[in-house]
Amino acid sequence: MQPENGDGFGTRAVHSGRGFTGSTGAVMPPVYLTSTFESGNLDGFDYTRSGNPNFRLLEESVGAMEGASFATCFASGVSAITAVVSSLKSGDLVLAEENLYGCTYRLFERVFNKFGLQVRYVDLSREENWEEIRRARPTLVWLESPTNPLLKIIDIAGIAKVAAEVDAPTLVDNTFASPYLQRPLELGATLSLSSTTKYINGHSDCLGGIVATNDKAWHARMVFAQKALGLQPGPFDAWLTTRGQRTLALRMERHCSNALELARWLETQPGVRLVRYPFLPSHPQFELAQKQMRGGSGMIVAEFDFPAQKALEFCRRLRLFTLAESLGGVESLVCHPPTMTHAQVPVKVRHAVGIRDGLVRFSVGIENVEDLRADLDQALRATLE
Ligand SMILES: *Cc1c(COP(=O)(O)O)cnc(C)c1O
Repeated sequence: MQPENGDGFGTRAVHSGRGFTGSTGAVMPPVYLTSTFESGNLDGFDYTRSGNPNFRLLEESVGAMEGASFATCFASGVSAITAVVSSLKSGDLVLAEENLYGCTYRLFERVFNKFGLQVRYVDLSREENWEEIRRARPTLVWLESPTNPLLKIIDIAGIAKVAAEVDAPTLVDNTFASPYLQRPLELGATLSLSSTTKYINGHSDCLGGIVATNDKAWHARMVFAQKALGLQPGPFDAWLTTRGQRTLALRMERHCSNALELARWLETQPGVRLVRYPFLPSHPQFELAQKQMRGGSGMIVAEFDFPAQKALEFCRRLRLFTLAESLGGVESLVCHPPTMTHAQVPVKVRHAVGIRDGLVRFSVGIENVEDLRADLDQALRATLE
């Protein structure tokens, strides 16, 4: 049965993306491991680079979550970003929020810059800087919210409105929030992009990316990029992601409640200078976060009173938080940005944007929260000794 318009998020997540079951009665779809399709088939497939039943099922289910008419899936979040940026041309200007995912920045500066794309970075968390959108009339406005790694919250509705005044589309990288907690298109954005590798798939067993939109022309550009640039996922990865997204609502509820509890606890601990979590009243954009998100998500950033080596020692002492990059899986992860994700950024620049040596980023999983708290407690105590 296909879900209906009035069905809730959890219902749609479970019941969408189940077509193409044919005469077998299979309740869940098979994996279509085929590179090509017989000409003249009823569903109009021809070659997997330009479409496969598993892509369509994934696009249908994530599209429904984002409240979008269209979605296009890709091999990774970076492939999805490549698809969007490749549709721009030399001389076009992207106005980007200054706190960007590292690989997005690298694509802008080391790849598309060579082809004449211009990117200007501004702090979009400050409303006075929105004037720059009116002044520069960019081809595209690009932002993430919450940002990586400092969890700044950016006002999507406010910025999309200003961008629309100068006919600039707004793209939101929705990876850190997931469509369960935040739906950028409903807030006025033109494009909502996700690395499905993170919360949407949620099981850390494959990569993927997706772009959702209500704009027909942008959809056509994404479909073109998928096949013309060879950015498509494998059918099995698309199948895994469709399976993963069915439990997104449940997982996000638990990520949010676990993270909020740990963030509150961390704030009271010795050796902790600062805790950032969007749903903590101490967050500078707490009210905006509450307005635009349904929960604070599973990411916490804490600044410890430790030099870099000691902070890394603390991370290594954790038993349940694996020291690794990435986020959004059922298992808890911990990362030390100064020596891991942001090691290439010069110390001065790093400090200027607030990434200090004692900064630790947690991706809180769905384990029992008392076990996670006890784990943080033992590692913190041992490091303070
Ligand atoms: C991980 C991530 C990406 C890139 O996604 P991949 O699937 O790793 O290619 C893009 N944006 C954000 C915010 C991310 O966290």
